[in-house]
Amino acid sequence: MSRLQQLKNRLAVIADVNGAASLLGWDQQIYMPAGGAAARAEQLATLGRLSHEMLTVSEIGELLEGAAAEVAGQPDAADAVCLIRVVRRDYDRARKVPPDLVAEIARATSLGMEIWVQAWKASNYSQFRPAFQRILDLHKDLARCLGFDESPYDPLLDQYEPGIKKSELVKIFADVKAGLVPLVQAISERLDRVDDAILRQKYAEQAQWDFGLEVARHVGYDFNRGRQDKSVHPFTTSFSINDVRITTRTDEQFLPTALFGTLHECGHALYEQGISQSLERTPLASGASLGIHESQSRLWENLVGRSRGFWKFFYPRLQQIFPANLAAVAQEQFYRAINRVEPSLIRVEADEVTYNLHILLRFELEGDLIEGRLDLADLPQAWNAKMTEYLGVVPTDDALGVLQDVHWSNGLIGYFPTYSLGNLISVQLFEKAQSANPSFDSQVEAGDFLSLLAWLRENIHRHGRKFLPSDLVKRASGDPLQAGPYLGYLRNKYAEIYQL
Ligand code: ZN
Repeated sequence: MSRLQQLKNRLAVIADVNGAASLLGWDQQIYMPAGGAAARAEQLATLGRLSHEMLTVSEIGELLEGAAAEVAGQPDAADAVCLIRVVRRDYDRARKVPPDLVAEIARATSLGMEIWVQAWKASNYSQFRPAFQRILDLHKDLARCLGFDESPYDPLLDQYEPGIKKSELVKIFADVKAGLVPLVQAISERLDRVDDAILRQKYAEQAQWDFGLEVARHVGYDFNRGRQDKSVHPFTTSFSINDVRITTRTDEQFLPTALFGTLHECGHALYEQGISQSLERTPLASGASLGIHESQSRLWENLVGRSRGFWKFFYPRLQQIFPANLAAVAQEQFYRAINRVEPSLIRVEADEVTYNLHILLRFELEGDLIEGRLDLADLPQAWNAKMTEYLGVVPTDDALGVLQDVHWSNGLIGYFPTYSLGNLISVQLFEKAQSANPSFDSQVEAGDFLSLLAWLRENIHRHGRKFLPSDLVKRASGDPLQAGPYLGYLRNKYAEIYQL
């Protein structure tokens, strides 16, 4: 048997262990009774340790060398060459971190999350600060173990967005900030131009759920290889290319929650379902990065789901389902309502325009924390100052400010910028798909998403994790990652809605 085949056999077993762990994680959020939490934590820790051990044994290093010699001369984009490159990265990375540090981080973050929940409920940042300090110190250690040239933030970011450096993000995000701050200010002076009261009435939960399923089916989510369940926080998870699950939540008093939640998760799921079957049971059978993943969810949620064309097709159907709410509401009024902008305190409730400013603030603060320019004692003040500068609103307490996200308590440092990258990339890809197909707009208006999905499959989905995110964006869109298309899209759309 070739070295490559031996390597693949081992990776398949690791993929099975990881798939089983994902299934346990899914069950934990959907069905598990509260009493099962302690046992589940042990089970997940055991599977995590097994998977880590199987990847880091020295035989994997030897097989990687042997397999690399076997594929020498094959093109860079060949599946086997990409597989060896990606596994080499994962292997080297995993071996750089001492098991003790991995265990310490797991302990500190599981404790940190519990403390954060209490601190958040009490809206008391000082209650969370010591646990956060511990998590921060451990992540500085982690960055040192992984190594870096420019910033200790880089190896942390690299876990979620391989190959991208903080200095590159600083440049791109400076453009985003320069474009967005004045746009938000201009809209803030005209907030009364758009009213979304029609979305804030009672919409029967079951009907919302059924409509979400109808839309999901329509955009191409394959229910033979997936299903939708309810959860407190919507998410997508995959145990195989052929079993990709989504969740959503409904709010009976606010129509957009379930609808756009479903479309968002559908975007993630279409990506996972579209990965080439030849990559199944390998580490390539997942998204290229969190930013690329988020580009897919935001593309379907915002560029498709909040567009006029989409509602030209779906709005009559929605009126039919909710006649008491919408029969007398014109499509244009509905379109404006779902695109209402308002600077607010909470990231997860933010609209398309203000959302990235919430992210920039977090990216800048966590960069300063990791690089030692900001002390945790000064974090709430720094947070509030940036909120005032970027969005013109100030949190009245910690729960509405610095404590609102779970990420830092969970050790997810370097994660936030991937949300904004997703937004930027979504427009680069969407505009390319649009320009490649002269009938694009009329197809969307007719509820036909097949050619858009086919373009995404061909250019993004099927590749799985074969390419670095920046290479994938370049291959698919023809251009490097940049802010221009995203800013242009927002300016055009919202200048019209708010008559700027
Ligand atoms: Zn997402």
